Amino acid sequence: MLRITNLKKYYGQTRGAEDVSFSVKKGEIFGFIGPNGAGKSTTIRCIMNLINKDGGSIEFDGKELIKNDVKAYEKIGYLPSEPALYKELKVIDMLKYNDSFYGKDTLPKGLAYAQKLQLDTSKKIGELSLGNIKKVGIVLSFMQDPKLVIMDEATSGLDPLMQEEVYKIILDEKNQGTTFLFSSHNLMEVKKLCDTVGIIKDGRIIKIASTNSLTTTEAYKVKYIENGEEKSLIYKDDINTLIKELSTKKLDKLLIEEPNLEEIFMHYYE
Ligand code: ADP
Repeated sequence: MLRITNLKKYYGQTRGAEDVSFSVKKGEIFGFIGPNGAGKSTTIRCIMNLINKDGGSIEFDGKELIKNDVKAYEKIGYLPSEPALYKELKVIDMLKYNDSFYGKDTLPKGLAYAQKLQLDTSKKIGELSLGNIKKVGIVLSFMQDPKLVIMDEATSGLDPLMQEEVYKIILDEKNQGTTFLFSSHNLMEVKKLCDTVGIIKDGRIIKIASTNSLTTTEAYKVKYIENGEEKSLIYKDDINTLIKELSTKKLDKLLIEEPNLEEIFMHYYE
């Protein structure tokens, strides 16, 4: 559904994305994760053509995505990490304004989602808390029944009950065939929602794997005390090689256990 190949973007001298390649398959939730400054938002803004890329290609539904391809962009919902909306408009008018861009009635779905998220549509955007502004952004990203929804930090700033509500919406949409590119800092939610995870670091994708395979990959969390100093590492290789390596050390204490997914992710972040 979405294929990014060798995407490159520099802001003057600053690296935004160096060489980003990954594909999102139809119907999956692709988790896009990585430390701050790794290039997630840059990649997403290039997909949305909000900034011009310096190199590489971005294909949606088998066709290069170009800036004014209104037909293609109608099929893509987008939630920016910080939605910038018209402060003077009431929520309901923002939904109507958004609706006016599509040749179909998108309002019923918008209102239904606003209700699910307990959003007061009579309030002005300028009066809303950041969490409520996020909710408006979420509603806007789903209204037109997009085939692909790109969410940049979908649930940051929402309270836990609302986060759960958003997870429900996402999984419901997925069951109806919607595809997701989902960037997040919250590894718990990545585990819960995503079929595939792509890890980006320093502007490059360093790992793409199914969320399940990451948990079942042979990996060991090793903690040991050597010369009074405690060391901890995630080891991803054959256990016998690990034992050989450890046998060269003089250890005071050793603990080997399975890392959880969060620890495996963090291992790639470092
Ligand atoms: P992430 O979303 O993974 O946190 P970003 O894509 O926002 O990463 O940032 C990647 C790099 O690009 C960072 O070094 C960041 O400082 C830089 N960057 C992002 N936006 C701009 C901008 N508008 N102007 C200059 N540098 C930018």
